[in-house]
Amino acid sequence: MSIGEVLGGVLATGVLGLLQPNLPGTKITVDAPARKGWVLYTVQPGDTLAAIAHRYRVDLRAIMYSSGLQSDHLRPGQLLRIPLVDDASSQVRLPPGVRPYVVRSGDTTESIARRFGLTLLGLVSANPDLKSLDRLEVGSTLYIPTGEPGLLVRLRPGETIHDLAQRYRVPLLVVARANGLTSPTEVGPGDLVLLPGVQARATYERLLQIQEAERKAREEERRRLAEERRRQEEARRRQMAERQARLQTRSPAQGQPQLRRANAVVAAAGYRWPMTSFTVTTYFGRRGAFQRFHTGIDLAAPVGTPIYAARAGQVGVAGWSRFGYGLHVVLDHGGGQETLYGHMSRIAVRPGQWVERGQIIGYVGSTGWSTGPHLHFEVRVGGVPRNPLAFLP
Ligand SMILES: [Zn+2]
Repeated sequence: MSIGEVLGGVLATGVLGLLQPNLPGTKITVDAPARKGWVLYTVQPGDTLAAIAHRYRVDLRAIMYSSGLQSDHLRPGQLLRIPLVDDASSQVRLPPGVRPYVVRSGDTTESIARRFGLTLLGLVSANPDLKSLDRLEVGSTLYIPTGEPGLLVRLRPGETIHDLAQRYRVPLLVVARANGLTSPTEVGPGDLVLLPGVQARATYERLLQIQEAERKAREEERRRLAEERRRQEEARRRQMAERQARLQTRSPAQGQPQLRRANAVVAAAGYRWPMTSFTVTTYFGRRGAFQRFHTGIDLAAPVGTPIYAARAGQVGVAGWSRFGYGLHVVLDHGGGQETLYGHMSRIAVRPGQWVERGQIIGYVGSTGWSTGPHLHFEVRVGGVPRNPLAFLP
């Protein structure tokens, strides 16, 4: 709170400031309830000592004593020193038709409303400070209108029930009757005032919106978790299937079953040999002339022998290789599968071009790191060189 706000409060209420107890020269010994401090109060026109004493819930004589008054006659502008009553001994005034209810574990707004025969809107109207319809704090107090339902508001400093009656358009008499008042001065700051027939509809709707938003957020979180679990489960199943497949292909029969199985699958996908007449000089995986691990197979043939696309696809690369392939072509067959054709004497395609299976893409040569005219042919899956024999018919 800023100084300005304190001063604002002062102007509105006539209270000059809260002071610490035991001011110099002040001794309270009689008729003194437990104190928590003092208020300096400037008498306003129309104030009576009885009304002020009632408003601050102190004995009239305590004000007279602490303010050095000889009589209860007040002049506007006069300063009064009002001893404040301890919180514990000061009971908030409740309208006669309202009872406090202390929230117990397991209570919900619905169950409480049901127990006291209220609508949820009725319960919210009696407790307009409620923050949530779902989360009730155990031990906190809710107010229950047992008679006529209405809006229950706390009187703020400087506020009168006239102000409340006017703001909520309830006749003053109706307010007075519902709160058991014979005089407006019987209620003071902090007291609860029931405004019969008034509903905290906006508050209720806001709480419903919060409730709905929280429900949606919970649902969203549940969905997200379920989706996450489903993804993890799927990934786990996929991994197991892959491990199973690896175990099966790593059969003891020297790789032959693996080739046959792969051929059955991949030949159906359309691979063909990239030349019609050749001699295989180096197989996949062997130590080649320029490679520790031969990443393809070498097919020897005279310079100028046509090289055909092993499968339909798009030309990814057509040009000179920095890695020893010389003039070479890479075809992209989709699905992560590529074929590479190296050491060509001439290239017959352009990058980006689509080629049919069996279309001439270049001619045998000995460019790059090559010891004689041949085609270095690679099959790559996901960027990893695989044994071309596993893909060829
Ligand atoms: Zn090679």
